[in-house]
Amino acid sequence: MTTREASATTFEGMLETRGITRRSFLKFCGVIAATLGLSEVAIPDIAKALEIGATSGKLQPAIWLELASCTGCTESLAQVETPDVATIVLELLSLNYSETLSAGAGHSLEKAKEETIEAGGYLLIVEGAVMEGWDGNALRIAGEKGTDIVAHAAENAAAVLAVGSCAVDGGWQAAYPNPGGALGVMKFLQSRGITTPVINLPTCPVNPEWIVAVVVSYLLLGRLPELDEKGYPTLIFGQSIHDNCPRRGHFENGEFVYEFGSIEEQKGYCLYPMGCKGPQTYTNCPIVRWNAKVSWCVEAGAPCAGCGCADPMRAHRNWVDVNTPFLKRHRVIRIGDKGFQPTTVAAGVAGILAVALVIHGFGMKATGRAPHGADFEDAREWDKKHPDQAIFPASLKKGGDE
Ligand code: SF4
Ligand code: SF4
Repeated sequence: MTTREASATTFEGMLETRGITRRSFLKFCGVIAATLGLSEVAIPDIAKALEIGATSGKLQPAIWLELASCTGCTESLAQVETPDVATIVLELLSLNYSETLSAGAGHSLEKAKEETIEAGGYLLIVEGAVMEGWDGNALRIAGEKGTDIVAHAAENAAAVLAVGSCAVDGGWQAAYPNPGGALGVMKFLQSRGITTPVINLPTCPVNPEWIVAVVVSYLLLGRLPELDEKGYPTLIFGQSIHDNCPRRGHFENGEFVYEFGSIEEQKGYCLYPMGCKGPQTYTNCPIVRWNAKVSWCVEAGAPCAGCGCADPMRAHRNWVDVNTPFLKRHRVIRIGDKGFQPTTVAAGVAGILAVALVIHGFGMKATGRAPHGADFEDAREWDKKHPDQAIFPASLKKGGDE
């Protein structure tokens, strides 16, 4: 064994071969602790658990199923760059089956999947929407219906990670008129009476840092992160993007971008008039950021499109239908399961951030503080085209709520 090989078998050696300093490793553990809602006191425990996990050679079996998707979430995971401390966590997974990433293919790969399912106790990661259309024939893989594949794989799993908005609520596949019958994994498994816990990680694509945090929690700390009733880890999806946005000060000062290419855009003003959905979208994108923490949508100059606004039990409320047109301020906004027309709820639901924000937006426009830019839509474009199937019914335009 060479000196280099020997050092790579110790944890310090693993860090060294990846060019990771002890300091940046502990910083990473701090990010994991924060994402999981643990205090700084937990950082040494996380560091120790990672060290033991990385050097024990004991791997956690995992299956990654590719349902109806663009494989963008797989691409996103591949952006956990090397060398990076996150790769140490992902190397703790023995990915026994993945249509996109596995080197093997055909019968040998299917056999590996079956053996993993029979053994049980694996982590099932699902990317893409379940397709129930045409009696499940809208998606067939290796001669089998996608619906049967995911049901079979979920029954024996220790936990299911639904990664990306398509796996959470059907995503853009479920956009009207949803001919393929797309829906999310949680709703589908419940309809089959399968009770394996589902962890939902929306956005399009999923942020790989969230997968890493959940894997650390499950494999090394021995528990799933705290989840809300929709299966969302509360520490990741508990705060709005608007709450943590670095442009928030400009919003408060009434400093807005009204046109792309303008001087206001160069100054980094708030993108709300350009249709930013940050106020009604609950993810920690501004904190965790994307692509090895380089940047994120609003910082890169794009209004948040609200791709984290998934609703696991309502495929027709997928983020695409709810948030288009992306570059318009919405007259009707969604909070939880309800659609609201801001002028109606001013009295009844005062204090709810998103409502207050839109009212604020109306007020600023009315008083001339935000006189320009994209107008509020008079009704949802999609609803106008499909009045019989409107996501937000016509009554909202007159001031009712759903
Ligand atoms: S509206 Fe969008 S750009 Fe403006 S502060 Fe909120 S999240 Fe940031
Ligand atoms: S900032 Fe908005 S559009 Fe960008 S990834 Fe997060 S939720 Fe999606």
